[in-house]
Amino acid sequence: MSKMKVRFAPSPTGPFHIGGARSALFNWLLARKEGGTFLLRIEDTDLARSTRESEENIKAALKWLGMNWDEGIDVGGENGPYRQTERLDIYKEITNPLLAEDKAYYCYCSEEELEAERQKQLEKGETPKYNGHCRHLTEEQIEAYKAEGRKPTVRLRVPLNETFAFDDMVRGHVSFDSNGVGDFVIVKSDGIPVYNYAVVIDDHTMEVTHVIRAEEHLSNTPRQIAIYNALGWEVPVFGHISLILGKDYKKMSKRHGATSVDQYRQLGYLPEAINNFLALLGWAPDGEQELFTQEELIQNFSMDRVAKNPAVFDIDKLNWINFNYMKNLSDEELYELCLPHLQAAGYASETPDEAEKAKLIMLCVCLKDHISFGAQIKDEAKLIFEDKEVPTDEEKAEIDAVLAEESCPVVLKEFRDAVAALDEISPEVVKATIKGIMKSTKLKGKFVFMPIRIATTGQMHGPDLNYIITLFGKEKTLQRLDETIATLG
Ligand code: GLU
Repeated sequence: MSKMKVRFAPSPTGPFHIGGARSALFNWLLARKEGGTFLLRIEDTDLARSTRESEENIKAALKWLGMNWDEGIDVGGENGPYRQTERLDIYKEITNPLLAEDKAYYCYCSEEELEAERQKQLEKGETPKYNGHCRHLTEEQIEAYKAEGRKPTVRLRVPLNETFAFDDMVRGHVSFDSNGVGDFVIVKSDGIPVYNYAVVIDDHTMEVTHVIRAEEHLSNTPRQIAIYNALGWEVPVFGHISLILGKDYKKMSKRHGATSVDQYRQLGYLPEAINNFLALLGWAPDGEQELFTQEELIQNFSMDRVAKNPAVFDIDKLNWINFNYMKNLSDEELYELCLPHLQAAGYASETPDEAEKAKLIMLCVCLKDHISFGAQIKDEAKLIFEDKEVPTDEEKAEIDAVLAEESCPVVLKEFRDAVAALDEISPEVVKATIKGIMKSTKLKGKFVFMPIRIATTGQMHGPDLNYIITLFGKEKTLQRLDETIATLG
C-alpha cells in the first residue's frame, strides 16, 4: 500500500469545536504513528457561512495543540490549492467529462418545483428523493428551460439496484441500498460544488488514503461512493468516529459548558492535557493508564481500539488530567498560565515589575494544588486579596471552639509580637517563627497553627500558612491578628 495520507478538512463556519479537534487529533496521531502525511484542507464552499476569521481560528488552535500539518493550507504541497473556493477550476474539469459521458446531467427544476415534489412524496409516506424529472430531457426541453432563464444544477446519475458497501475502521461492514439515494446535486446553480462532490475530488486528487471523520458524515458516505464509482476512482478507507455527548447523554452543546478549543485555551487549560483528554474520547487504550505524554499517545494509538458507542465528555476528568499536567509546569510557566486571570480579577498589574512578579509566582505556587486550570486561580486568590469570607454557621461553630481555647490569646499575642519584630517576611521566616512559639508555649502544632490560620484567613483550612502570611505581608497580618485579638477580650 502507498504511504498513509490522512486529512483534516474543517469548514470554517464558526469557532473551532472540541469535536473537530478530536477528529483532527485522531488523524494526526495515526499519521504520526504510521509515518504518514497529515494534510489540512479548508472546506469553504458554504460561502454564506465561511469566514477567514474562523479559518485563522482553526489553524491557530491546531498549532496551539501541537498538531502540525505536513501538507495543506499555508504549508503548501503538490496537490494545492488547499482552500476549496480556490479549486473551482479543478472541479469544473472533472464535471465536464462526467456530463459528456452522461454520468451526470443538468437539472432545471426550480426550488419550488422540487419542494412541491418533496411534499407530495412525504404525503404518500415515502422518503423524499429526486424524482428523475430531468434525467432524460430532450434538446427542445433543454432549450425551452434555457430560454426561461433557468440556471441548472448538475446531478449525478445514481445507478439503481446497487449496494454501496464499505468496511469502516470503526463501525465494521456498512452498506446502503443505492435506491434510497436518488440522483443528487453535485454542482449548485451558481457553479459551486456541493460538499459531497468537492470532498471526493479533493480526497482523490490529494491522494488521501484514509478518511477519518465524525459519525455525522456516515450518511454522506454512500453519495461519496457513488461519485467515486462514477469517476472510476478507488474509494479510500473510511473511519467514522462516534459523537461526543454531554454527561446527560445529549449531544455536546453550549449547555454543557465550553465547546470551543479557544474557550479552553482562554480558561487556562494546557494543550497537552486537552490532547490527552480528547484522545480518550472514543479511544480506549489497552490497560489502566490514563495520563499519556504526546509520544506515548502516538505510540499507543490505534483505530481498532476506537469505540463505536458515543464518547461522554466528562469535564471532571479533563480537570483531573489538566491538574496532573500542571504539576509538571515550572514556577515561571505556572505564572504565565495564571497571570491573565489574576489581571482580569484586578489582582495583578498589566506589566508586573520584578517584585510583584516574585510575589505572584509565590501566590501561584502556593495555590497550585487547589486549582485544576488557570482561571480557577482568581477564586482561590480571593483569600489573599479580598476581605475574609463569612463562614457558614457550621464553620463558625468550629472556629469559635478554636478561638475559645485557653491558649489562643497567648499564641496570637506572641505571634503578633514576633511578626511586628520581623524585618523581612518569607515562608521560611514565618515557619521558624511559628516553630519558636510552639517551643516557648510547649503547645502542640495544632494549637498554634489553628488560631493563627483562623485569625489571619478566617478559615479552618487552606493553602500553606507560611506562604499565605508572607503574601499578606507584615501590615495586613498584624492588622488581622489585632482584630481577632481584640474580639478575645
Ligand atoms: N468539512 C466537513 C466538516 O467540517 C468535514 C468533511 C469530511 O471530513 O469529510 O464537517
